Amino acid sequence: MNVYDSHRIADVLKPLGFELSDTPEGSDMMVLNTCHIREKATEKVFSELGRLKEHKIKKESEGDTKVIMAVAGCVAQAEGKIITQRAPFVDLVFGPQTYHRLPEMVSKLTGIRSGSKNKRHIDTDFPAEGKFDYLPEETQSQGSSAFLSVQEGCDKFCTFCVVPYTRGAEFSRPVQSILDEALSLVDKGAKELNLLGQNVNAYHGAGKDGKIADLAHLLHELSEINGLERLRYTTSHPRDMTENLIQAHGDIKELMPYLHLPIQSGSNKMLEAMNRKHDAQMYLDIINDLRKIRPDIAFSSDFIVGFPGETEQDHLDTMELVKQVSFAACYSFKYSPRPGTPAANMRGLVREDVKTERLIRLQQLLGDQQKQFNESQVGKILPVLLDRKGREEGQLHGRSPYNQAVHVKASPRLLNEIVNVRIKTATQSSLTGEILTSESESTKTKAA
Ligand code: SAH
Ligand code: SF4
Repeated sequence: MNVYDSHRIADVLKPLGFELSDTPEGSDMMVLNTCHIREKATEKVFSELGRLKEHKIKKESEGDTKVIMAVAGCVAQAEGKIITQRAPFVDLVFGPQTYHRLPEMVSKLTGIRSGSKNKRHIDTDFPAEGKFDYLPEETQSQGSSAFLSVQEGCDKFCTFCVVPYTRGAEFSRPVQSILDEALSLVDKGAKELNLLGQNVNAYHGAGKDGKIADLAHLLHELSEINGLERLRYTTSHPRDMTENLIQAHGDIKELMPYLHLPIQSGSNKMLEAMNRKHDAQMYLDIINDLRKIRPDIAFSSDFIVGFPGETEQDHLDTMELVKQVSFAACYSFKYSPRPGTPAANMRGLVREDVKTERLIRLQQLLGDQQKQFNESQVGKILPVLLDRKGREEGQLHGRSPYNQAVHVKASPRLLNEIVNVRIKTATQSSLTGEILTSESESTKTKAA
């Protein structure tokens, strides 16, 4: 979501004459887009600001131009005042919901001479106007695999999570506005769209007929777009895996057989304390239903270890659930208390060394499963979307339908094509293979 927002911030700034720069050195404006989800991410903001400040000082000392230093994203939203106190060289602080107002904010700051006393601007509103109505069309191509934000915010209030406070209430963009953006992305070369939302499967936007459309409906509409080959969506909540959406995985061939479905814990006691509003069995039932509809579907998830009150037995329940599902990939974290969330005041804190030990055990198991899943693809032929250059000369990087990273030796002219690859080797993190045919799947046509 932050990568998407950063692109859109660049789009908003373009009409003001700003171009993206590969390095902060010599820039007229620096925007640090931030994440508040765990403490570690927040800590990074201040060390990064310290580093960026050097570029600002250097550039300002060389001439008369003011260098605008901005902090964006969820840390800005949650800690705007603290940022300007701790880092007085920051000129602009704006949250995830106000970046469409950047032209105004920047114009308030321009005309200030370098070295003059900082006039600062903070905009962390949740404005009544939707930012998507004000964002310009995307100016740069995101390449063959593009992000598209369809839903933002969250009303679930899991007790550990800052998202409902930093991103605000659930909001879904209307279907037509998403289709327009999708068409423009496909025009610019996208073959795969990753639909984004903090709670993407809670999507309920206004449909073309004025009725409320759910995510399954939106996926069906998008799958009709000519030249669009692959659809993915993230991140989902088990509570919103409706029958319609599960069925869509059987009906929409563009929908890739891979789903990121966070559960956080395999212990019902923990799930209740986290206010996840479902139990482990419900999760397992969803996985079963999806496997019935789409037998090759692969799953990934998020886990939190060491939530307040978590016992060894709770952790074993998590390990058990992981064994039952068998994941293709996973993200696991130590619980990190976030200011303002209900869990931050809960008793029964788990010791740091216990959290570490549980995380190691869990990651070992998840890592083994990921390796096994990758190894099970060896010898198979998979369609791979070659989305960027590989690290090595003459190599391209791509994604399998199951979201695995695949490295192949390939001519650069195959970049952004979907090619059939015979998988040769597998490690825990990626696959290598050989291209079978250069014939791109993307040559197929669909009814308009
Ligand atoms: N909407 C998604 C998750 C969004 S946050 C969902 O409902 O699952 C992404 C992940 O960060 C979460 O799934 C969770 O595993 C992790 N996370 C969020 N808050 C956290 C915290 N306070 N401590 C540790 N991990 C956290
Ligand atoms: Fe956070 Fe996801 Fe829970 Fe919403 S559903 S509060 S985003 S973890």
